[in-house]
Amino acid sequence: MHVHGSVRVAHQPVTLAVRVRISAVDLFNNEYPQCGGENMSTTQNQASQAQSKLTAAVNGEKSISVFFTPREQKPVCNEACSGCYYFANYTPGQSAISAVEVPAVLRALSEAGFSNQFLMTSELLLAPNWRDLMKLAGYDYINTNGRIIARRGIPLLEEIAEAGVRQLVITANLPPYNEELNLTRPEIVQGAFDVINQYNGANPNSAFVTVATVILTSRNYDAVPALCADVKELYRANKVRFIAYIPLTGGVPSLAASREQLAVAGEQITAMRDFYDPAELYVARGGTIGSQGLSSAKRSSFCPAGETLFAVRSMDEGSPVSPCIYIPSVNVGSVVDGRVILDEQLQLAFRETKQRAIDQGYCPAFALAGGLVK
Ligand code: SF4
Repeated sequence: MHVHGSVRVAHQPVTLAVRVRISAVDLFNNEYPQCGGENMSTTQNQASQAQSKLTAAVNGEKSISVFFTPREQKPVCNEACSGCYYFANYTPGQSAISAVEVPAVLRALSEAGFSNQFLMTSELLLAPNWRDLMKLAGYDYINTNGRIIARRGIPLLEEIAEAGVRQLVITANLPPYNEELNLTRPEIVQGAFDVINQYNGANPNSAFVTVATVILTSRNYDAVPALCADVKELYRANKVRFIAYIPLTGGVPSLAASREQLAVAGEQITAMRDFYDPAELYVARGGTIGSQGLSSAKRSSFCPAGETLFAVRSMDEGSPVSPCIYIPSVNVGSVVDGRVILDEQLQLAFRETKQRAIDQGYCPAFALAGGLVK
């Protein structure tokens, strides 16, 4: 999992029945935007393993994200994107889980019944033990900003393929649509896709499925057709996944699309799903786009946050357990004696808030971050 960024988000207390302090929300190249009622009757390649893991959470499998830092116990990334959840989630004074500690944490969580596990960090490939982490979490995909791939090229791709990775997910930066987000430079992202395409051409038996994550903002929310065309033509990606820029405190709140704008984006995504043959370009709608326009069946199952899906950022005694990494300061439990203990009252209160957000057409994380629900 992955997100890169530079935003330090000041904590902003919000009075709620639950202890809600919105500090940061996941933005970029992450796992959870794959929630959101996608059509699951697609092939494994189209749907992606990340989506399958989310589907497992939606279907009731106890799931958890471990937020960690790839190196030592300090924030590290090779990029500095605006509004990134990773740096925003670094809580001063609270120790972060470092990559070398993650295997033990994953094993303990697995023993406690959290069988479906997600890795949430800046750039996973910066972790010295990224292969072990992937294996333990059961990953066959990597989220990356692409910088390392563009720099190290084919030899790194060979290593990644040998480690069992089948899918590479990269945050798109398509001028002029992603300006202001301070993402990895367009030519670097393009370079990463180019080298992957080169590898794929030479290695058809271990070719990667490629996914471009596109962030929709108040500036580009109505450019979905053009963005799809760019992803297909410039990146030659197999899949495009749209997620919404979340109004993080400390980010650029004016870049967050309004509910009306998200409705337009949702309609355009639906139109593009019909327009493209999924084998040619699979168009995915992330959960952060919200619940507008979804059937009632999809609405009722598109957000596993706080019910079957949780996140931990530290295993220190008393550390909070969050519903979905996007809502890291909404607590639904805490770490007690090294174990994740859920609190029924907090869970109940969060579910009520969450339902209000969904009823209004939002992703709960988006709505809570923007102060759109109480
Ligand atoms: S709050 Fe729910 S819909 Fe929003 S990103 Fe998290 S899991 Fe997905």
